[in-house]
Amino acid sequence: MRIAIIGAGFGGMAAAYDLKNAGHEVTIYESANYVGGLAAGFKEPHWDWSVEKFYHHWFQSDREMLGLIEELGWEEKVLFPRPLTVMYHKGKFYPFDSILRALLFPGLGFGLDKVRFGFVGLFLRLTNNWKALEKVTADVWMRKWAGRNVYEKMWKPLLVGKFGPFYRDVNMAWMWARIKARTTRLGTFEGGFQNFASRFGDKLREMDIDIRLGARVESIKREGAQLSVRSDGKSASFDKVLVTTSPSLMAKLTPDLPQNYLKGLLELKSMGAVVMVLSLRHQLSNEGYYWFNLPKEAGFPMLALVEHTNFVPKEHFGGDHIVYAGDYLEVGHEYFSMSDEELLKRFIPAFQKFNPAFKPDWVKKIWVNKTNYAQPVPLVNHSKNIPAIETPIKGLYFASMSQVYPWDRGTNFAVEIGRRAARMMLGQSS
Ligand SMILES: Cc1cc2nc3c(=O)[nH]c(=O)nc-3n(C[C@H](O)[C@H](O)[C@H](O)COP(=O)(O)OP(=O)(O)OC[C@H]3O[C@@H](n4cnc5c(N)ncnc54)[C@H](O)[C@@H]3O)c2cc1C
Repeated sequence: MRIAIIGAGFGGMAAAYDLKNAGHEVTIYESANYVGGLAAGFKEPHWDWSVEKFYHHWFQSDREMLGLIEELGWEEKVLFPRPLTVMYHKGKFYPFDSILRALLFPGLGFGLDKVRFGFVGLFLRLTNNWKALEKVTADVWMRKWAGRNVYEKMWKPLLVGKFGPFYRDVNMAWMWARIKARTTRLGTFEGGFQNFASRFGDKLREMDIDIRLGARVESIKREGAQLSVRSDGKSASFDKVLVTTSPSLMAKLTPDLPQNYLKGLLELKSMGAVVMVLSLRHQLSNEGYYWFNLPKEAGFPMLALVEHTNFVPKEHFGGDHIVYAGDYLEVGHEYFSMSDEELLKRFIPAFQKFNPAFKPDWVKKIWVNKTNYAQPVPLVNHSKNIPAIETPIKGLYFASMSQVYPWDRGTNFAVEIGRRAARMMLGQSS
């Protein structure tokens, strides 16, 4: 078969790998001039490693991703340090990345609340019955089982931070998946995620897969027995096509999809993200903290502050200290239209809360990355709203972050759904 894949993110590349290995002719169209999609990175001339545009790490439970890396023979390039995650409480940050540290966290007191927090965490780690949990919102479930105090101190800030105005609507299966699939050790690839993506791209090219960079697809149409893919004003015919973009873009590319499938795509909710990367002259967190969870109610202008060089050594970045300041936001939010300098002005006052010695002249350079499609929002009974990978147009398939549910989005699940889509295209069971 002649197969086209739209998107050279990890989903598209994993699918291409399997389809080519099964003996088919594969072309990847990628609108950017690099591979890696949302997990891509960039590099300054004096850095040996790239920095992800949006903070990225793996969990030890990311079996699909780690399995693929092993198949490629690159497992020795995967590193799993144990960086420190901290929680905010009354003006201070407390490490919160092990059971012992959770027990010592003063934010929940030392009585019944902590016991409820522990039992709810344990239950969610052990149960596999996410179908029952998707019938209720996390807001209602957590208030009932963890209690108002635990919910408002621990879980509500997470929901508000990730889902803003939709926080009350998110179902409990999302929370389950988050707790179930996470580990305290966090992983990366030697050289950064971009190094892995570029190596994977090179491997696909060696296998004779045609990766067309800077090739934005404008439309996909059924023409007789074939699918016609239009890019840069030229059309090419394929037997099968896999699209790995956002659902709204999929709807735009393929207006011939039946109304009910199109409606399903357009009704899916998601949040965008705005993430600033800063290179600093000095270390921001004296304690060496990596990930700061920041409650919106405490007045921070961002959801997360992440000191990347407390995860991987600053020596890979010519001694620069790399920090991310980011937030998940609705696309109309003012951060999307602010200039980089305006956004820096908004963020800078918060930096002294991480280190009182911080001065604006610590900032060497900033980069601001924005995406409209960063985090799907799963509502109650969401499993009924997931678009099928095999679309009603014969030969046309769709695999995106919005379909990896009940799992939350991540490169691990991009690989899983990309490979699942490939099996379906090959006529194997999913
Ligand atoms: C802020 C943030 C933090 C994250 N943190 C993590 C993390 O810590 N760990 C983790 O594993 N995952 C993380 N993720 C999620 C992870 O990045 C995604 O789940 C994964 O990269 C999705 O891969 P994909 O192939 O499905 O889609 P994408 O990576 O979005 O790939 C789709 C590709 O399609 C291309 N494209 C779009 N339109 C067209 C067109 N018309 N023609 C041709 N090409 C087109 C795009 O340029 C893109 O390259 C994070 C995401 C964000 C936004």
